[in-house]
Amino acid sequence: MAKVKDTPENLKICLQGNCDKCPSYPEGSGEGLYCARSKSKKPIERKGCNCPECPVWIDNGLSGMYYCIKGSAI
Ligand code: SF4
Ligand code: SF4
Repeated sequence: MAKVKDTPENLKICLQGNCDKCPSYPEGSGEGLYCARSKSKKPIERKGCNCPECPVWIDNGLSGMYYCIKGSAI
């Protein structure tokens, strides 16, 4: 089971100031909460990762980055 819960609250946090503001985020994909779900279906170019600034990342004690490329936190 993934470490982060796939909840509406976490998705909102992700897409209101974190993944959505990230230079690597695939605009228009409608995706989010990669740390709980899975990696992106789009090709991602690494241009930075906002995860370490995100309350979901902090509250769940995560340490990784680029979940949109690597898949969910375990
Ligand atoms: S997982 Fe990290 S790199 Fe990917 S879109 Fe979200 S903040 Fe950006
Ligand atoms: S840790 Fe990254 S992928 Fe997870 S909710 Fe925050 S910004 Fe989104």
